[in-house]
Amino acid sequence: MKRTRYLSLLIALMIGIVVGAEPTGRVVRITDGDTITLRLEGRRERVRLSGIDAPERAQPFGERARQHIASLCFQRLVTLSDTSRDVYGRLLAVVTTDSVNVNRAMVRDGFAWHYHEYSSDATLAQLHSEARAAKCGLWSDADPVAPWDFRRGAYEASQPDSQTAGITVYVTRTGRKYHRSGCRYLRRSKIAISLEDAKSQGYTPCSICKPPR
Ligand SMILES: [Zn+2]
Repeated sequence: MKRTRYLSLLIALMIGIVVGAEPTGRVVRITDGDTITLRLEGRRERVRLSGIDAPERAQPFGERARQHIASLCFQRLVTLSDTSRDVYGRLLAVVTTDSVNVNRAMVRDGFAWHYHEYSSDATLAQLHSEARAAKCGLWSDADPVAPWDFRRGAYEASQPDSQTAGITVYVTRTGRKYHRSGCRYLRRSKIAISLEDAKSQGYTPCSICKPPR
């Protein structure tokens, strides 16, 4: 009896391979709200969920986005579909577990943006608008910074010749660090100050959001 079950499983697997079944693997690591690692056919494969962009871990809701995607798929078996590679060679895919489309669920629940610059998916666009209107997740913030804007800010600040004149940073009522606008440490209070003033008043740069120096 047992043997017959194994045999039928084996045949099912072989058929799956022949017809090019969508790859299935177990999620073994969560990097952030849009990047996970699967164990797939004996190797580890890092997957960037396509069409969505979750807040960076240094941004407000970055950690919550990571926890949310973990609650959806960590240690579960997931299936990849619509796979492709981006210009950096990263594997892009729609991730599905127990018939839940994780890409859509992240946008629906307000833990990721529809990455409209690289995706024209009408469903993701719709879920994004609905989550935003309902102030779900990160949309409860008055003025959330899109992750692509946050990354560009971080990139520009990392350029050696960036001018310090006219740069605004943010401090809190009690902290001794200064931050860039999207930093998660600005949840309680956020006071704008020029970079020069922040430095002359003895504030030091936050090690999480890495504001300009
Ligand atoms: Zn910071």
